[in-house]
Amino acid sequence: MHRLHTICEMLVENNRKYNLTAIVEPEAVVDKHIVDSLLPLGILADKGILTGELRSADGGMLRLIDIGAGAGFPSLPFAAVMPSDSTRILAVDSTAKKVRHIAETAQAAGIGHIASEAGRAEELALGRLRESFGIATARAVADLRILVELTAPFVAVGGYVAALKGSRVEEELAGAEKIAMVLGLGEPEVVEYTLPCGDGRALVLYKKMGKTPEGYPRAYGKIKGSKK
Ligand code: SAH
Repeated sequence: MHRLHTICEMLVENNRKYNLTAIVEPEAVVDKHIVDSLLPLGILADKGILTGELRSADGGMLRLIDIGAGAGFPSLPFAAVMPSDSTRILAVDSTAKKVRHIAETAQAAGIGHIASEAGRAEELALGRLRESFGIATARAVADLRILVELTAPFVAVGGYVAALKGSRVEEELAGAEKIAMVLGLGEPEVVEYTLPCGDGRALVLYKKMGKTPEGYPRAYGKIKGSKK
């Protein structure tokens, strides 16, 4: 609770200099940022994804990457509640000031198992971070068709892409179908849930079945432009 409280305080404080979020009213921060981040984590836990084969495949360690983390959602609340000795979280965002906010918040909250890195996902995924995570999350970053290409290349075979989405995902799912397969992802599973404030949400879960072929992710213009 102390860690989550510090995340909220730092968000409101740093928002004055960094302009991080439009949501600053305390109840809304808790509901739309904290609870909205933690409910999907509960779904992953219920499915055994946080404790099962992903950990055993990696010497007991669960490695999670959050793409387009912004002010640190869902990665900061995840880190706040996940065990520090067996979880490693990396928050990635293309905007340096947001990455700085995440680092400052982690330090203020005493969360040592989250790191943050500035960069574009489609570029970072070509380097040392490729296929080295059990889970890649993303909330409010892009349409699924684009999002799968920004996340899947970071995930090791057997791991998961977990996209935090609003309630209507059918159209996005259809649009992402072909490219998801190309990237090595299996059939998506959609878990719908409702926030305490009444808003509907969907967690879209893809399991990574095979390696992402060389050449992916493509340059952002190509990802965005393609209808594949
Ligand atoms: N996940 C956060 C922020 C959402 S806003 C939340 O839910 O509150 C989307 C964020 O994605 C922005 O901070 C933007 O800088 C980042 N972003 C967009 N495209 C990106 C890319 N290709 N690589 C890395 N970050 C990206």
